[in-house]
Amino acid sequence: MNANNHMMQNDNAERKTPRTIIIGLDGATFDLILPWSEAEYLPTLTRLMRNGAYGVLDSFPNMNSAAAWSSIVTGTNAGKHGIFDFGEQLNPSRPWHPVTALDRHRNPFWRILTTAGKRVGVMNVPISYPADAVNGFAVSGMDAPSISSEGFAFPINFLEQLRHAGIDYILDVNQLDAVHEREPNHIPTVVRAMVEARTRAFLYGMEQFRCDVGMVVFIATDRMQHYYWGTSENPFDESWTALRELYQLLDGRIAEILARVGEETNVLIVSDHGFGPRRKAKNEVVVILEKTGLMALQHASTNDTLLKHGLAT
Ligand SMILES: [Zn+2]
Repeated sequence: MNANNHMMQNDNAERKTPRTIIIGLDGATFDLILPWSEAEYLPTLTRLMRNGAYGVLDSFPNMNSAAAWSSIVTGTNAGKHGIFDFGEQLNPSRPWHPVTALDRHRNPFWRILTTAGKRVGVMNVPISYPADAVNGFAVSGMDAPSISSEGFAFPINFLEQLRHAGIDYILDVNQLDAVHEREPNHIPTVVRAMVEARTRAFLYGMEQFRCDVGMVVFIATDRMQHYYWGTSENPFDESWTALRELYQLLDGRIAEILARVGEETNVLIVSDHGFGPRRKAKNEVVVILEKTGLMALQHASTNDTLLKHGLAT
């Protein structure tokens, strides 16, 4: 047991209320968790489901991560918090602009806890840039322009503190097409590095600031599912190996977080929406427009036209 753990246990003993940890898995779905749990690939999630409660909840109607996470952290719907997507154009005469936490009309729980004098840590929640000056630590999510943007983290030297502790924080990994081609059968190195760094950064912050409540969102599930979704109905098919390894990696990291925060902790594992295979919309848009009578094609068949424009596969 290291010094930090010892300190946290003493700290826990003095608490009147147990701490709460919220772990977000973006786009995680029971369609994969339940079969893999049954086959004993995910011991931590299985234990949490057995000892707690779980179920499928409704997502935001457009299943958009920006809207759904904003509902999770404010407890209100988008009509109240005002976040519908990652960008918006309020009317045609105004330019499109990326949405950030400055567009949110309701307070997330970490502001309320800060006002109440509680210590709170928040890391990588979509739509949390710029980072709030919380009573604890805050690290922005994917709405931040970059990791080096002003206001990315609070306290402002938090990333520097992480670097001193040997943690190279990675904000996000996008466009994994090329990575998928190079490393199709296992978790890509860059995704693994992001998950490991985030786990260590979160634990560092929780211990350093002795937080009562902490929330961390892992985005790797969403990012990888866009490119690594299996080609078979059977989640034990080879085409699912990389994703299964990712869920196993996260299961292990969740175990590590739970071991460090103590048994009395309330644990919530949340996802913002489900997932499914990625269909090539460009192939379907023309077909849908033609079927609904919104577009008439001059050529003999839809497929000929698609082929002509290089759209059919
Ligand atoms: Zn999402």
